[in-house]
Amino acid sequence: MGVKGWSMTAVMLIRPSHQTQFILAGIAILFSLALIARTEATETQTPPNIIVILSDDVGWGDLGCYGATRIKTPHLDALAGKGLRFTNAYASASVCTPTRYSLLTGQYSWRINTNGLNRGVANADSPLLIPVTATTLPKILKNAGYRTGAVGKWHLGFGNSRPDYNKDLSPGPLEIGFDEFFGFPATNDRIPTVFVRDHRVIGLDPADPISYSYEEPADPDSPLKKFSSGGSRIGWIAGGKAAQWKDNELTDNLVREAVAFVERNQAKPFFLYYAPHNVHAPTIPGPRFLGSSGLSKRADTLVELDWSVGELIKTLERLKLTGNTLVVFSSDNGAYVLDESGHRPNGPWRGKKSQSWEGGHRVPFIACWPGHIAPGVSDALVSMIDLPATAAALVGTGLPADAAPDSFNLVPTLLGKTNPHPRDHLILMNGTGELAVRQGNWKYIPSLSRANGWDSWKKTNGPATAKSGLYNLEKDPGETKNLVSEEPEVEKRLIGLLEKTRSPPSTRPR
Ligand code: CA
Repeated sequence: MGVKGWSMTAVMLIRPSHQTQFILAGIAILFSLALIARTEATETQTPPNIIVILSDDVGWGDLGCYGATRIKTPHLDALAGKGLRFTNAYASASVCTPTRYSLLTGQYSWRINTNGLNRGVANADSPLLIPVTATTLPKILKNAGYRTGAVGKWHLGFGNSRPDYNKDLSPGPLEIGFDEFFGFPATNDRIPTVFVRDHRVIGLDPADPISYSYEEPADPDSPLKKFSSGGSRIGWIAGGKAAQWKDNELTDNLVREAVAFVERNQAKPFFLYYAPHNVHAPTIPGPRFLGSSGLSKRADTLVELDWSVGELIKTLERLKLTGNTLVVFSSDNGAYVLDESGHRPNGPWRGKKSQSWEGGHRVPFIACWPGHIAPGVSDALVSMIDLPATAAALVGTGLPADAAPDSFNLVPTLLGKTNPHPRDHLILMNGTGELAVRQGNWKYIPSLSRANGWDSWKKTNGPATAKSGLYNLEKDPGETKNLVSEEPEVEKRLIGLLEKTRSPPSTRPR
């Protein structure tokens, strides 16, 4: 508009003879066209808006585009149809907190000797698990001029020690690079079941303060109860009644905030980290999704998740942002159920959430950026841990030497350019902190006694045994045939790779 306005003004102000007017008009038009062409070139080189959707406990086989037939996921399938669908994508851990840490920092969580990072997950009593000095995905984008927002599940702690939910929850998401935060502290099955905006619990009545514990109170008459938002939860809580959410309104709240963030920031480059609670337990869908799958409540929440993704996509279309927004969809770990009336949430893969098997780690991963990423299917080995290096490459800032040490730049993979397979291997951590490694077609699990994650922890709680597992995923995707005896050289190589990964504490190319 500005360019066109300038050319018209130039022609009108001069008022020369007809011939001169014609020549001047021609020059003005050519100048205008040149400016428009330059503007368009600049626009295509402008880094895109970025929306990362990290769903919770959604398995590789949960989506129609990954082979599900009993559950319909039309919006996610459409996203995959317009984008690149990855078949070899992994959550770097098979439980929530460590994967989320790795996504935001580009570092293997097990490098940090803290519960919730090198084993298990965080409770809502955890201090902030990401150092405020760390280079993070939101900081990389914020420093490049993006407006950054996080909506949904946090699960990475608040404050410098055990957080007090009646006071400022700082440091938190804002201190590690987000301009805005709306979400909840840990999981939807953990107390406190409240929303936090920036540093504060929303709707808290000061006359009814929150007290809580993750240890069972010794006193049977304690006011602390395992009951919040009308349901049984992990942890004991008293107070904060007015602030408690309704489970069946969670998705509507998160979608409203995510859409509002995009609307507010449509004129700037923005980064939205959208972390819905679906399909984590308790699976309580909104009323209009109850029974929508005809399969299970978990499947109903999957339909609800698909709807919520559709709402974000429609928002981009309405605001004409589709062509300038990169949308990534994935999940923080595999599904926790193996079978729902014939539906296989983890597809063909063995095992489930918290385990070392593929079903715990192999997740959906879709990247859509119309006009830039060609639609298709990729078998490149990728992980959400690669998003910080990818974002740094997209905005052209590069990374400090010690930042995002395990993050690989996926831009060539996404844009179909040179080296579509930047990552040679990936280390996987299960819920008990046991590592495994994937390289080429090989998967190596050093201690099979711990491969079943939380299940094996509960059952044996014993020391890891030396019995290891080696599987050829191309010939044996179900990880049924242990080839340790047949392939000692491969085992030796993968043991060496695991050791090399631990020290020095970095794997990305420099
Ligand atoms: Ca999860």
